[in-house]
Amino acid sequence: MATRTHFSGGYRTGLRQKTLKRAIPCRGVGLHSGATVSMLLRPAEADSGIRFLRTDVVDRDPWIAARYDRVVDTRLCTVIGNEDGVRVGTIEHLMAALAGCEIDNAVVEIDAAEVPVMDGSSEPFVFLIECAGTVELNAPRRAVQVRKPVTVGDARRGLTLAPADAFSVDFEIDFASPVVSHSTLDVRLVNGTFKREIAKARTFGFLEDAQKLRAMGLALGGSLENTVVVDGDRVLNEGGLRFDDEFVRHKVLDCVGDLYLAGAPILGRVTATKSGHHTNNEALRALFADPTAYALVEMPESATAYAEALPATA
Ligand SMILES: [Zn+2]
Repeated sequence: MATRTHFSGGYRTGLRQKTLKRAIPCRGVGLHSGATVSMLLRPAEADSGIRFLRTDVVDRDPWIAARYDRVVDTRLCTVIGNEDGVRVGTIEHLMAALAGCEIDNAVVEIDAAEVPVMDGSSEPFVFLIECAGTVELNAPRRAVQVRKPVTVGDARRGLTLAPADAFSVDFEIDFASPVVSHSTLDVRLVNGTFKREIAKARTFGFLEDAQKLRAMGLALGGSLENTVVVDGDRVLNEGGLRFDDEFVRHKVLDCVGDLYLAGAPILGRVTATKSGHHTNNEALRALFADPTAYALVEMPESATAYAEALPATA
């Protein structure tokens, strides 16, 4: 695919890294703990990436870098941890918002081991980031460019990262549930597509699973306020779904958030079948395990120009 020069951004020297203009607080409930959590998103210097700071931890290292090689649990959500065993979980919806808003550097101060679930989507985090505003830093924006296809899993459940001129995700889900069922979505995630098409999609679960999780002391903060709950052939939430295909959109949201643990935006095409937090993380580990499969490059403006030249196929 031919690239073309694109100067409408006005940056002849290339795209710059971004951070927040000012710090912005929020409070919410942890999906699994049910505890009230205070969080503060604040600006950070160039090349520092996204880092979590556990303000309630005093006797151990409270810093956790939001990177794929810090992922320590993927069973119910994505959990990262440091060498002192300090953890923070349910980071994926916040990471997706940071990815979608193109925030390269930020510190996430948090006084608990779980990011608040908010409404179960990324939209409240996008709102916070937009309220804080963004500023450019004096450093080039970098991307992880996929140089050759990397596949984890198989045709039944798996994920492939392949070279492409822009970041896109093609996702397929297939649930036995008549409500969730089979659904696909193919979307280029640039130029506000994330905010328009993906950010509002909420996490979902099945009533019978919620009852089991609660019995195990999990999902204690889960409610119809933050989860689409499916019971047989019905959605229990008043008002129903935000999109007819909200379920697959949320799986794309999770995938975007998990893949932002690459430490930079990915320049490549994601093809995923029934992928979840585990497979998303496995894909990054496989990519970075092969030095010939990727390169850290300056984000080309042509990645944006290319995307603008084509209509989204969602
Ligand atoms: Zn999710």
